[in-house]
Amino acid sequence: MKINTIISSLSAVTVISLLIGLCACNGSGKTTKPDSVPGVNTDATGKILSDEEAATKASLEIAKSVEQEQEAFKAKYKTYEEFEKSEDFNKIVHKENFPNGKYIVNGDTPIADKKHLREYFEKIFAMKPKPPVKEGAQELILFRVGGVDVKWSRLDKKALSYCVSTAFGSQHQQVVDAMAQATKAWEAVADVGFIYLPSEDANCNTGNSKVLFDVNPVSGQNYLARAFFPNESRIGRNVMIDQSSFDLGPGKLTLTGILRHELGHVLGFRHEHTRPGGAASCFEDNDWRTVAGNGIDLLSVMMYPQCNKDKQGQQDWSLRLTETDKQGVACVYGPSAGYPFDKTICIDPPAPAPVNKGIPTTNSFTNQKVKLGQDRVYGPYPVIPGSILTVDMTGKKSSEDPDLYVAFGSQPVVASGKFACRPFLTGPNESCKLDVPANKQDAYVLVNGSTSATYNLKVQRERSQ
Ligand SMILES: [Zn+2]
Repeated sequence: MKINTIISSLSAVTVISLLIGLCACNGSGKTTKPDSVPGVNTDATGKILSDEEAATKASLEIAKSVEQEQEAFKAKYKTYEEFEKSEDFNKIVHKENFPNGKYIVNGDTPIADKKHLREYFEKIFAMKPKPPVKEGAQELILFRVGGVDVKWSRLDKKALSYCVSTAFGSQHQQVVDAMAQATKAWEAVADVGFIYLPSEDANCNTGNSKVLFDVNPVSGQNYLARAFFPNESRIGRNVMIDQSSFDLGPGKLTLTGILRHELGHVLGFRHEHTRPGGAASCFEDNDWRTVAGNGIDLLSVMMYPQCNKDKQGQQDWSLRLTETDKQGVACVYGPSAGYPFDKTICIDPPAPAPVNKGIPTTNSFTNQKVKLGQDRVYGPYPVIPGSILTVDMTGKKSSEDPDLYVAFGSQPVVASGKFACRPFLTGPNESCKLDVPANKQDAYVLVNGSTSATYNLKVQRERSQ
């Protein structure tokens, strides 16, 4: 695809088609958008525009079209509740029909909780598109919420332990092998470590805290597989493989390829096709950041093959890590020992390891109370850059809903999204595990009452001598 073609298809983006026309990872191989829309690369007088002029023109057209569609959507649904009850809702959101089932959007993107789902759609209704980017440098894109990267802490990234449920039956070994190959692809280039614990396979479910995540079979879902993001609690940390993944036609997707893609989500990466410049029908939302470079990688492992036509119009179904995928994951987690890597390409390179260890310190608070809508602030707590901060909130009543926030440098501000962690789950059990950033020496904790609630709080940190 040429730059003008990419820009042309972008101009057709509308909120409604964002919501309804999303690619499902179903291997159909079809893109729904035409390859070009006449008139985008010429001005009103018919003069042919340069790539840059065409990009500006397309950008303005997208903004206008999104605005119009937003107005139309708001006219159709006055509230999120109305949308939730509509037929559109069921076309867009898939609810997994098993215990602890999640809401699935964009084919295989899991949303943990009703609260997150409401927030997701409210944000989409209010969304303005990012301006299109030009072809050129290419990179992976990382999930980002409230201005914070969603990634594993320095400790967890090297101990991403998992089990493969024996419920796979005769397909168990096939899954074990595919997971081994898929994890190796990421480990070969980034300083991350997956650990397979076969001893937990017989008890491989969300209740097993000896593993960080579990791999389980499902059937009848509208995806081949789905995973989770690093900010989810243990109960939401599973990779689900649908039976349809064992029944793939030859020459296209493979189980190993699908798992390479899903493990990209596990490491915090979003679908490459959500960035402007991807196929218009595959755009999702703006909760991501570029880790290096500034353009789309059409063959990225995080791109749905049906969205990924390259410049010759070819599609690649192998879901392998491209050079830019490799550089991207190394930018976020640091390179593996054997991966030659120039970290000056990274926009925000990983923080260096701490030079000195502090004194492990715990602050505990029991029987804390918060009223509906009230904020309770704890701290500041002195912390050491590069150390790990863990905050656990627990409570007995599942009907009560306090929300936990953690920030560095100043106290969390809920309304403006100023925080480093916010699990935002229904119920009182939430936790945050964070690397203390290079230039921060104070941590703050805030509990906001989504309902009035009683909870316990534990802050574990390292302080200087
Ligand atoms: Zn995906």
